Amino acid sequence: MNQKIKTRFAPSPTGYLHIGGLRTALYNYLYAKQNKGRFVLRIEDTDQKREVKGAAEALMATLQKMGLNWDEGPKQGFIAKIADKGQNGPYFQSKRLKIYQNHAQKLVLAGQAYYCTCSPERLEKLKQEQEARKEAPRYDGCCREKNLKSKANENFVIRLKVPENKEVVFNDLIRGEIKFKTAEIDDQVLIKSDGFPTYHLANVVDDHLMGITHVIRGEEWLPSTPKHILLYEAFGWPLPQFSHLPLLLNADKSKLSKRQGDVAVEDYLAKGYLPQAIINYVALLGWHPSDNKEIFSLPELVKAFDLNKTQKAGAIFDIEKLNWFNAYYIKQLSEKELLNKCREFLPNNVEQGLLLKILKVEKERLNNLSEIGEKVKMFLELPAYNPKILIFKKSNKETTVKGLELALEILQKENDWQKEKMSQALAKAVGDNNLTNGDVFWPVRVAVSGLEKSPAPEEIMWVLGKEKSLKRIQNAIEKLKLK
Ligand code: GLU
Repeated sequence: MNQKIKTRFAPSPTGYLHIGGLRTALYNYLYAKQNKGRFVLRIEDTDQKREVKGAAEALMATLQKMGLNWDEGPKQGFIAKIADKGQNGPYFQSKRLKIYQNHAQKLVLAGQAYYCTCSPERLEKLKQEQEARKEAPRYDGCCREKNLKSKANENFVIRLKVPENKEVVFNDLIRGEIKFKTAEIDDQVLIKSDGFPTYHLANVVDDHLMGITHVIRGEEWLPSTPKHILLYEAFGWPLPQFSHLPLLLNADKSKLSKRQGDVAVEDYLAKGYLPQAIINYVALLGWHPSDNKEIFSLPELVKAFDLNKTQKAGAIFDIEKLNWFNAYYIKQLSEKELLNKCREFLPNNVEQGLLLKILKVEKERLNNLSEIGEKVKMFLELPAYNPKILIFKKSNKETTVKGLELALEILQKENDWQKEKMSQALAKAVGDNNLTNGDVFWPVRVAVSGLEKSPAPEEIMWVLGKEKSLKRIQNAIEKLKLK
């Protein structure tokens, strides 16, 4: 193929970046990059009623955080919006209104579209009558025959003359051959009465003018595709290759929605999910390499990704799996890197050396960075706890006190405060006195953490240092005796 591959991500700035939107952007990015092509960003902001202020800028910032940089045009959202007049990317459709109006006009002159001057009241009445007859609401073609070549009054829309009784057939890269009957397609509005184009017109005109070779988007846009194809045909333009990605589902197979958990990429970033973990996980929502490899950096994905192997069936978004990826990537960070990434979740009056030690221990157990805020607490201050939890379920008060006293005695003699030395010392206390791990390791762990669940005792004691650790064990013995 000589033509240079070009893909686009074309979000409407109506809020946050949805996980599904991120996957669409990612697949477009991967496909363009692996073919040495271009990936452009187009903000589809022609529906002024739905536009949310600042959403486009937030979206651009999030894409950049995720490493999905677009080609063409300045990269800084704010500057981009000011500097760009709709000619360079990121493209803002609201800056290109004239282009759409001219193209719609061309279709009118070619007899492929027409002015419609039906009043909103007439259309509403039509709709109600059709509903009463249990028919699908559609335009009745009243203005089709008038063949107005210019606007008759101020209130008009431009509609596409959808051919009757035709079949629109196209080949979707993921879904294969798809057919639609034009009898089911209404005469689409192309230009609204406020002069703004509809999604269909602006989308098709831009995909053509921008040289988009591959349209990769979510399955929810599949019903729009025949309308787009009719537009390409009306203009006499070649079709791009279409690929419709599978839906994202909740665990119960319903469509992924806010009600069952976070769906905004921004929310995951705020909770301390790492961009590379999110990217890695999202890449696998609909595509799997044949060797079942799971860990991929963005450059590795560029090499391995195969759009043709994208599945048709909906992909389940599983937070546990995302946690697994995030935990994996957190473990790959050095303590220093980790500290830099989770500063916002940590108290700021704590000495760096101590924080690094805490992170070394806790990094093995973090699903996301925000969890460190809770985990750091017990190292800084012993939580108030019920002495009952010091007693392992198969032990009793007397043996637990004995276990703690033996541990205290043996640890007091330990001058090399290393994890291995401490666990050897505790094991010796168990072995020499005919005790079990539950009589020694368990209560020591609870004594130094104040928690039912925590890292191993030697890990916590290594962070706390000898003096604090022994104090906490002493404190536990006293609490138990008083019980
Ligand atoms: N503006 C549409 C959206 O919000 C674009 C759909 C498409 O890619 O054609 O997703």
